[in-house]
Amino acid sequence: MMAGQDNWNTGKAMSSLPLVFAAPRRGQPPRHLADLSAQQRAEAVAALGEKPLRARQLSRHYFARLSVDAPSMTDIPQHSRAALVGELLPPLLTEARAVSCDNGATRKSLWRAHDGTLLESVVMRYPDRATVCVSSQAGCGMACPFCATGQGGLRRNLSTAEIVEQVRAAAAIVRDGGLGPPGRLSNVVFMGMGEPLANYQRTRDAVRRICDPVPEGFGISQRSVTVSTVGLVPAIRRLAGEGLAVTLAVSLHAPDDELRDELVPVNTRWKVAEVLAAARFYADRTGRRVSVEYALIRDVNDQPWRADLLGSLLHQALGPLVHVNAIPLNPTPGSKWDASPKRAEQEFVRRVAAAGVPCTVRDTRGREIAAACGQLAASDR
Ligand code: SAH
Repeated sequence: MMAGQDNWNTGKAMSSLPLVFAAPRRGQPPRHLADLSAQQRAEAVAALGEKPLRARQLSRHYFARLSVDAPSMTDIPQHSRAALVGELLPPLLTEARAVSCDNGATRKSLWRAHDGTLLESVVMRYPDRATVCVSSQAGCGMACPFCATGQGGLRRNLSTAEIVEQVRAAAAIVRDGGLGPPGRLSNVVFMGMGEPLANYQRTRDAVRRICDPVPEGFGISQRSVTVSTVGLVPAIRRLAGEGLAVTLAVSLHAPDDELRDELVPVNTRWKVAEVLAAARFYADRTGRRVSVEYALIRDVNDQPWRADLLGSLLHQALGPLVHVNAIPLNPTPGSKWDASPKRAEQEFVRRVAAAGVPCTVRDTRGREIAAACGQLAASDR
């Protein structure tokens, strides 16, 4: 299996995994329409000897109709269709398994890529919206000890189109009524497997495809896209300059460096104060309120004094430009930690809010199908 089951069974200190920033170099997935900008699509179509307008037609099938099915592309002459679809819409991800819960409103897919790499995505239908949680890497190199993905290590970066394909599949399922009443995919969160900002360009380009207007992209609004990070400070600052006003989520989990060094090992590179300064920079540049993620772990990071410290630090660093999502810790195989008791959770939330920082407990979906935050391990057993 992908995630290191052996690690889970030894009971060793799990935080001893190394941090891995550069993904192993493995074979590239085939080139795909969704890897390309509008300009590059026009060039690719011309290189195939096809008319320039075919790029836009193909984009419309893919991003507006969510289709890769050649026979249904009746506005393109038959002989061109096969060439265009063959060259620009190669199959990238095959659904190896899907599991549902919440009466069918939550669905996790296990995908197999061209090289056998496994990854997962989760679609969640709510009364007023539908959200897909996508993976940006197969596995993760950030080694957070409470996260199943982090404990499995990093296999490889996903290509732009492999990220975008997870969105297309989710949008098609929601449209076709696969999770309840037919609707429109409204939100995309980069909170699946991987550290999106460690796969920076592909993540950024995927965000562009997701937000660009139809037919260049899916036309999902930037404010409905969330990129979550462990706190890669230079990349947060870089993202602030991309002209993409997506929501930034920072996985903080501790307000003090001593504990955060253990819970989020990348803190040994960029400290809490630096992460908060970068978050402030992002908020100022984009006008977007930053989300701070805080998994509540019993007797580890849920003490009243840590709530007070978190509240005052965030208030100081971000003023009104921050919101805290407290997440009851989800169980992961072999973890020695539990979620905080309800009373500690309530007291924690109360104290953070008392410091002037809005704080809510996130309704996490999919725990029973190992689809919740931190549980994605892409095992095919
Ligand atoms: N690498 C990025 C994207 C993953 S998002 C990041 O860390 O932000 C997944 C979120 O779930 C992160 O906030 C992560 O810290 C959190 N998480 C991981 N394991 C968890 C667990 N066992 N219970 C609750 N939240 C968890």
